[in-house]
Amino acid sequence: MKMSKMFVQTLREYPSDAEVISHKMLGRAGYIKKLAPGIYTFMPLMWRVLKKIENIVREEMDRAGAQELLMPFVQPKELWEESGRWEVYGKELMRLKDRHDRDMCLGPTHEEIITSVARDSLKSYKQLPVNLYQIQSKFRDEIRPRYGLLRGREFIMKDAYSFDIDEAGLDKEYKNMAQAYKRIFDRCGLETKMVQSDSGAIGGSVSHEFMVITDTDAGENDVFYCNSCDYSANSNHAVSKLADREVDRKEFFNETKIVDTPNTHSIEELCEFLKIPSTLILKSLVYIADKKPVIALIRADKAVEETKLMNAVSGVDIRIASSAEIAELMSEKGFDAVPGFIGPKGMNGIKIIADETVRDMKNFVVGINQTDKHLVGANLSDLGIELNYADIRLVQQGELCPQCGKPLYVTKGIEVGNIFKLGTKYSKPMNAVYTDIEGKTHPYIMGCYGIGISRTAAAAVEAHYDEYGIKWPVSIAPYHAVIVPVNINDELQMHTAQKIYEDLLNAGIEVVLDDRDERAGVKFKDADLIGFPYRVTVGKTITEGLVEYKVRETGEQEKYTPEQAVKILIQNIKNNLK
Ligand code: ATP
Ligand code: MG
Repeated sequence: MKMSKMFVQTLREYPSDAEVISHKMLGRAGYIKKLAPGIYTFMPLMWRVLKKIENIVREEMDRAGAQELLMPFVQPKELWEESGRWEVYGKELMRLKDRHDRDMCLGPTHEEIITSVARDSLKSYKQLPVNLYQIQSKFRDEIRPRYGLLRGREFIMKDAYSFDIDEAGLDKEYKNMAQAYKRIFDRCGLETKMVQSDSGAIGGSVSHEFMVITDTDAGENDVFYCNSCDYSANSNHAVSKLADREVDRKEFFNETKIVDTPNTHSIEELCEFLKIPSTLILKSLVYIADKKPVIALIRADKAVEETKLMNAVSGVDIRIASSAEIAELMSEKGFDAVPGFIGPKGMNGIKIIADETVRDMKNFVVGINQTDKHLVGANLSDLGIELNYADIRLVQQGELCPQCGKPLYVTKGIEVGNIFKLGTKYSKPMNAVYTDIEGKTHPYIMGCYGIGISRTAAAAVEAHYDEYGIKWPVSIAPYHAVIVPVNINDELQMHTAQKIYEDLLNAGIEVVLDDRDERAGVKFKDADLIGFPYRVTVGKTITEGLVEYKVRETGEQEKYTPEQAVKILIQNIKNNLK
């Protein structure tokens, strides 16, 4: 490719709305062009990167025994009604009507479609197991599209779905996919951690996420991990042991009574006023889960993890209640307390979930739905309510590993892929069954396996960059090398550069010749920004028969004859692609 012909425009500035490295770099280097929030054109350089990632994914999925197909992007409502998700999916599902007024949606994921494809074709146990995948644009009307390709509305995903006759088959395929994922991300030059995760709207019981651990701001997920054993989980799912020393067992109240606690709206103010540690306070929080109020109780030195709470009430949508919703609940129950003084007493009929930290609290302080008052020296028996216990606690750094008891650490991660055991979540309601050897029918045991192709590209930038630009891993770089003649009007320089370019092309190397009539500084800047893994510069030293060879990743530079440079380049690129 001649740089003078290449359809790319590098910019002086980062895009004004870019907050994270990958969005800044991909925007400035001309890889992506925004059309609307979360919707981008993949420019030629970007498309080359995406196709490379897709091909690695294809090769490894095929090697793992999966088969590629392509399902429609626009889907009819009826299938989503069969699975029950038309109601619960929420606003991320982009719904539309066709000219006959039929409800349709843009595919955010394809469980319904693949399950209907399977039930029409996979009738006998003899046809199973099967794993089918596709690589396709998805649309999710994300509430906060941001970070460029990391959280788009339209993005490319690989989604795979497996069908087995039993759990043992699913187990085997789940492991098979985990191994394929490891190979995929390794080949893309990405180090990932496989962490236990919650399965969110897709449902099911067991799931893992593949996280690129990053020290940039782009990591949206907290990952808790143990250095002494293999435990790692995202914050939606992480559990921990608490150290005994956390709770001060000193007796503060030996009598149960209501006391005045004026203006103590926050836990800090209440601790200050009563001169007590926060571990003595039972905190009551009101959430709205699937439109109904839920009260979460937790020891006040800890925080509630919303997804865990949502799972505890088997909900699909959860958020903290607004002051107006709290006021409404209060009036419904005949109280008029303001937030800060809410408590579980008298809340019969409302679902109350207590975190495990509540279990052994004694003589504690709790709101009783009277403004400026709290009950002190309280015990669970004083509350007169029925509690459901669940682990709804957000793990914090320093708490102890649930497996081995050593301290847990927390880091940020970008989720590039995930694997789920779906079981019969879709096959049962959609009546997608196979016939066993005795002629009895059973729903398929399913798994699903996603990889964000466009997110993986952006994550690779987050993991490989410097102040000058991107440092693509060779395997997914848009081109392997760039040849830069310093002065295109110098015949020897241009001739040598042209020769190197052709030799590399002939060897199957993807190479760009920067034949633009620009200053060397401009060409070097663009080469670094775009992130070609290798650069060969043909400048003045060509009169001594030497060119400069430079490795983008390490900055290593060496002078070679043109023939040596070509040979070393071919060797290094081939080694990297193995
Ligand atoms: P997240 O929690 O980050 O929104 P998710 O749990 O919704 O991800 P899945 O539904 O399992 O993700 O989708 C599979 C993969 O698709 C994810 O692992 C991720 O790599 C990618 N992905 C999901 N949402 C987006 C998005 N808005 N933009 C780009 N890639 C995405
Ligand atoms: Mg999502």
